[in-house]
Amino acid sequence: MELIIKNLETDVLIVGGGTAGCFAAITIAENSKAKVIIAEKANLKRSGCLAAGVNALNAYIVKGQTPETYLNYVRNDAEGVIREDLVYTISQRLNAVTEKMETLGLVILKDESGEYVSRGNRNIKINGENIKPILAEGVRKSQNVTVLNRVNIIDYIVQEGKVIGAYGFSLDQNILYVIGAKAVICTTGGAAGLYKPNNPGFSKHKMWYSPFNTGAGYAMGIRAGAEMTTFEMRFIALRSKDTIAPTGTIAQGIGAQQINGLGEEYEKNYGAGKTSLRMYSTVMENKVGRGPCYLKTVGISAEQEGDLYKAYLNMAPAQTLRWLENGNGPAAENVEIEGTEPYIVGGHTGSGYWVDTKRGTTLKGLYAAGDVAGGSPQKYVTGCFAEGEIAAFSVLAYLQGATKLVPDIEESKKKLAEVNQYLSSRVSFYTVEEVEEAMQKIMDEYAGGISSGYTYNSRKLQEAKKRIIEVLDISQKLVAEDLHQLMLIYEVIDRLYVCQTLIAHLEARQETRWHSFQENADYPNRDDENWLKFVNSRFEAGKIKMVMRDLIKKDDIYEHKD
Ligand SMILES: Cc1cc2nc3c(=O)[nH]c(=O)nc-3n(C[C@H](O)[C@H](O)[C@H](O)COP(=O)(O)OP(=O)(O)OC[C@H]3O[C@@H](n4cnc5c(N)ncnc54)[C@H](O)[C@@H]3O)c2cc1C
Repeated sequence: MELIIKNLETDVLIVGGGTAGCFAAITIAENSKAKVIIAEKANLKRSGCLAAGVNALNAYIVKGQTPETYLNYVRNDAEGVIREDLVYTISQRLNAVTEKMETLGLVILKDESGEYVSRGNRNIKINGENIKPILAEGVRKSQNVTVLNRVNIIDYIVQEGKVIGAYGFSLDQNILYVIGAKAVICTTGGAAGLYKPNNPGFSKHKMWYSPFNTGAGYAMGIRAGAEMTTFEMRFIALRSKDTIAPTGTIAQGIGAQQINGLGEEYEKNYGAGKTSLRMYSTVMENKVGRGPCYLKTVGISAEQEGDLYKAYLNMAPAQTLRWLENGNGPAAENVEIEGTEPYIVGGHTGSGYWVDTKRGTTLKGLYAAGDVAGGSPQKYVTGCFAEGEIAAFSVLAYLQGATKLVPDIEESKKKLAEVNQYLSSRVSFYTVEEVEEAMQKIMDEYAGGISSGYTYNSRKLQEAKKRIIEVLDISQKLVAEDLHQLMLIYEVIDRLYVCQTLIAHLEARQETRWHSFQENADYPNRDDENWLKFVNSRFEAGKIKMVMRDLIKKDDIYEHKD
């Protein structure tokens, strides 16, 4: 089997039709006549983080709160290392994008006075099982937007120092798309599957983050030399054991406390309730022998129990099924909790492209939004919408002066040859699954995965670095029998690039700022004097170069200079 080239051209190429990507497309269509292509590796209707639905919008300015209070919350939770310009510009748009979703058909729960029903200080409740089809329908109705479903984008086309499109292959036909564009917005989400997951074998994809977001956007940016930030701030989710269902619904929904195996509340012993400390305190209780740990639900009312059944059916049905199957609901049995493997996800923590205030990356013509963009944690669904909108308006301004460059034919042929070599009849001694497992084992054991209590040190990272390079070398000799396997090969190669960058970042931050998320055994304490700054990196001539950057204030307009 061999692929053949098909050329396409557009004004704006959006890579990844998820939360941020769809919202960006709708914004461009509503405000211009620009032609847009969304290239999506799955199907827009049920792809990415929203595929299974969500039951709350975690970022909303509820009554009595302001964009400033949201900014303060994010700064505090991220121990000071945030891009205030990014977080603030997101917070200012949270409520407007929510209203926009309501006009598209999203059901947002309201009280008797017509106010949205809030859950805590920043959260509103929705009937979100259909949020993705609603968004996809909004895109379908948009003028000048073409959706390419089941097209896996693999690399940017970079010419004359600009990103002028991307290469991607169809998962259904023998086609390598060469998509030329005046501007590109990357919205491919974060990276799952870097580390050995909680569950083995058939259940390995029962993980917190979308298993199909495999860091393609990061990897394409890394290979093209884009600057990346804060990969060392990994995200580890505290989940219900085995089902890996969310715990926030129980903790915030009914105010359940975390208790250890002795029935003691322990979170307060580790500091104020920050996201990373909820996780870290659980790791430590298990480490000192006071596990297993639970969310204390025993004794909740029948109504609360019924609400939990329904809430989980909206987003993690396995949890409700497990309760019903066991014959014991949360009112009778506390819910055991555990940490997941670490992910790289800029919508929860700060990892991703280093962008300017307009969401332009350090590569001209390339913008980034959502989980793939760094510097602004706690974006969640609405923050990704907001960033998609900001990137869309910035691209429209950029298009005014942009000329279209035609992708070079010789470069396209080289890319075609690269892709086709995986489809050739050469012999590979490894399968893509074996390569994936090797990568995950290395990351688990040497780069702070579950088995090492999320802790690492520089000697272990050196070992991880060496072994990941070996696996990357092997991965380039893999063979695909069909287009699905071809995609799996590109996914594992992308993750290996992300792993390399992640290891370099973990090594560079010589302190421990976010317990568990970034637990450096060589430097176990937080060091504000030296490390209240960004750790960034660029992949240049096959090597990762680290760059340190200062913090940026709320009203600063940040532009790339060097
Ligand atoms: C399990 C879970 C529950 C959550 N619950 C909530 C919640 O209740 N409330 C809340 O506010 N937030 C929640 N979040 C967070 C929120 O859903 C995400 O932050 C947000 O949806 C991410 O948006 P995104 O556009 O960055 O990525 P996504 O929406 O995941 O979009 C990325 C898209 O890119 C596509 N893609 C990836 N690689 C390629 C490629 N190579 N080529 C083409 N396409 C590609 C993917 O298929 C996907 O469609 C949750 C997240 C998860 C994982």
